[in-house]
Amino acid sequence: MAPVDEGGGGRPAVLVIAATDSSGGAGIARDVQVLADFSADALCVVTAVTAQSDSRVTAVHHIPPEIIRAQIAAALETRQVGAIKIGMLGTRATVDAVVDSLSQILSVPIVLDPVLVSSSGGVLLDAGGRDAMRKNLFPRAALVTPNVPEAAALLETGIANSEQVLIEQAQSLLAFGPQAVLIKGGHTGGEEAVDLLVSRDHGLQRIPSPRLRATKRGTGCALASAIAEGVASGVSLFDACGHAKRYVLEMLSVNNRCL
Ligand code: PLP
Repeated sequence: MAPVDEGGGGRPAVLVIAATDSSGGAGIARDVQVLADFSADALCVVTAVTAQSDSRVTAVHHIPPEIIRAQIAAALETRQVGAIKIGMLGTRATVDAVVDSLSQILSVPIVLDPVLVSSSGGVLLDAGGRDAMRKNLFPRAALVTPNVPEAAALLETGIANSEQVLIEQAQSLLAFGPQAVLIKGGHTGGEEAVDLLVSRDHGLQRIPSPRLRATKRGTGCALASAIAEGVASGVSLFDACGHAKRYVLEMLSVNNRCL
């Protein structure tokens, strides 16, 4: 059956493929909250159920691949999708199921947050999943949004110690096939937090902001969801990244705003 676009004032929905976080700080709850802040509708595909607090991950249940395929098929049957945000995938089987299921909608842009490890140290993607993600999902992505440690882990190299090295790492990640790579500056030092956007179309674009002392779980999820909303609305990738960064800065600066 052809997808029917209903609701959302004609705005395309965002398909969120991500995991739950029982602490509410990260994962799909954060994604949906962000999309609601932008008055965008979310279609939700759950890849894993995680039991975690702010300080540790105690259990992970990976959803069977056939259920992931069924969720994606049903979501795509329901509404037209303007962008896809992918967060925690967990295993190689999940990456494979997602790649397979999305092969029928090649024109919809994907914003891929390559979630590897929680800030509390819990492993959120196995080694086979990381390989499959690089090989099969990166080439489908409009944008991949690693933080500094994720960029290093994806390249199996050391953590960058300068902006020049980060730019080279972004270019190396671009060679895996995405249209663009955004390395987030939250884990670097200095007065400014500079996100580095490297794309096939526009080369390097810097997105600076003041560095806030605050930290909050789920900022990576929030940024990627906000970017996906911008992309779904048709703004340029650079503008979507800038807008999303301003949103996350506000989220960090308003303590009682978040979950
Ligand atoms: N848990 C889940 C389910 C996530 O999807 C993510 C990030 O996407 C995380 C944890 C990591 O978030 P944090 O770095 O805030 O721990």
